[in-house]
Amino acid sequence: MSVFHDEVELEDFEYDEDTCAYYFPCPCGDRFVITEEDLENGEEVATCPSCSLIVKVIYDKEAFMSGETIQAPLEPKLELAQS
Ligand SMILES: [Zn+2]
Repeated sequence: MSVFHDEVELEDFEYDEDTCAYYFPCPCGDRFVITEEDLENGEEVATCPSCSLIVKVIYDKEAFMSGETIQAPLEPKLELAQS
């Protein structure tokens, strides 16, 4: 799973608002896909659902990860422990 078919900049992907995911044409006729959530989690591998090819997504991780993250639910727990 570590051999990339290609490296593609995120801006070359097509964003779909309905699925909150980015798509890029795959040689097999389907499309590589990576979701916005994946990007926020630092994921950089777009996969094709129809074949085994994968591409590496080139993008600015910090721009995606600087917002709210999945770690947020931990904070209320800490406050409870202190009070
Ligand atoms: Zn494919």
